[in-house]
Amino acid sequence: MTMILDIQQLYVHFPVSSTVIRAVDGVDINIEQPEALAIIGESGSGKSVLGLALLGLLPANCTVNGVIRYHGDNLLTLSENELEMIRGRKIAWVPQNPTGAMNPSMTVGNQIGEPISLHIEKDKTKIRKKVLELLQFVRIIPPEERIDSYPYSFSGGMLQRSLVAMGISGHPEVLVADEPTKGIDIMNKQAITYLLRVLCKEGITLILITHDLPFVQNLADRIAVMYSGRIVEIRERQAFFDGPLHPYSRGLLRSLPENGLHPIPSGTEDSEEKDGGCRFRFRCTSAIERCRIEPPLIPFPEGSAVRCWLYDRRE
Ligand code: ATP
Ligand code: MG
Repeated sequence: MTMILDIQQLYVHFPVSSTVIRAVDGVDINIEQPEALAIIGESGSGKSVLGLALLGLLPANCTVNGVIRYHGDNLLTLSENELEMIRGRKIAWVPQNPTGAMNPSMTVGNQIGEPISLHIEKDKTKIRKKVLELLQFVRIIPPEERIDSYPYSFSGGMLQRSLVAMGISGHPEVLVADEPTKGIDIMNKQAITYLLRVLCKEGITLILITHDLPFVQNLADRIAVMYSGRIVEIRERQAFFDGPLHPYSRGLLRSLPENGLHPIPSGTEDSEEKDGGCRFRFRCTSAIERCRIEPPLIPFPEGSAVRCWLYDRRE
């Protein structure tokens, strides 16, 4: 495996009136090719903003610092023209909200074909043939009857699968899928899981942003857990599900229905970000005095790491 994306000290902050939202706050992670990396964590932890940073799609109202190295280039310093050569073609995106992500006045087939016509092929007949193949691949059948339909006539699951088809139509090396199983039924979920697994076998690097732990359990090679803009744990999938290390990760697994739906206690103060210690400590039942100081990501064997003083073996 080779490293395809090397993210170092990534910060994405949003100055909002008198405060700053630290959406991504010092993220370091290497992503290999091929692998399926899942980024999990509760709402607002910075997962989508991290994904948008990889695509060069961050909104204008943020400040960005750090390095996102892709084949030697720092994506954060490329021009918009240079980014356009990468976006869709090398690194593609399946956005979070399928209904809002599609253009309602353009046929699904034309939307799926757009990355092909931008990056690969100008011949309209060849593009249509490729789009028909993609529709077949994502099980939107019969493709000939669906290709000229508009998004309003598709169910949520069909839209989600169309977005996957759109994401892969430019043959990307990396596919960032934001909540690909959100709001769809079990059959569509299984279909998406199967499609993504096939793509992984074909060598695409998948970055799965999700709340859906059972989905991740079926698909991911590694899990990165985000909390309040930071990665608090990175583990191989099986090791993570067998025994998560960080108290927040343990809480995430305990909150699953099969583990009794135990909720993670909510913070008692809004001071999580104010004084620089571990941000989870106000909700953590294992918190100790030392947690007033921000813990580093403590390395574990085989590329694992956890940001928690409980695992610091130095005295
Ligand atoms: P969810 O699971 O609900 O999708 P998330 O982990 O993807 O959550 P993000 O969308 O990455 O969360 O947001 C991280 C933080 O950044 C949140 O506090 C959010 O309100 C803030 N944020 C995101 N986009 C903007 C923006 N354009 N302007 C200001 N704040 C933003
Ligand atoms: Mg999100």
